[in-house]
Amino acid sequence: MKLSPNTSPLEPGDLLIRMHNLVGAAVDVTGLSYGQNSRWTCHGCGFPSDRAANDWLPFTSGRANAHAAQCRAAYHRLG
Ligand SMILES: [Zn+2]
Repeated sequence: MKLSPNTSPLEPGDLLIRMHNLVGAAVDVTGLSYGQNSRWTCHGCGFPSDRAANDWLPFTSGRANAHAAQCRAAYHRLG
C-alpha cells in the first residue's frame, strides 16, 4: 500500500486536532474550540470543501474521525 505524502502538512495556525486516514493522510480539525466555529478537512481526498459549514467541536471532530476511519485517499497533488 502506498502511503500518503500528506502525513505532515503544514499545521494551520488554528489547528485543534490532527487525525490520520487509513493511508496516513492528515485529517485536520481547525477553528475555535468553542461555539460553532470548527471545521475539518482531509488532506487525502480534499473533502469537504472550504465551504463546509462550521459546527460545534464535538460534532466536527466526530465527523472528521468517522471520515478518517474510512478514507483511503492519498492524493498527491492537493494544495
Ligand atoms: Zn478523505
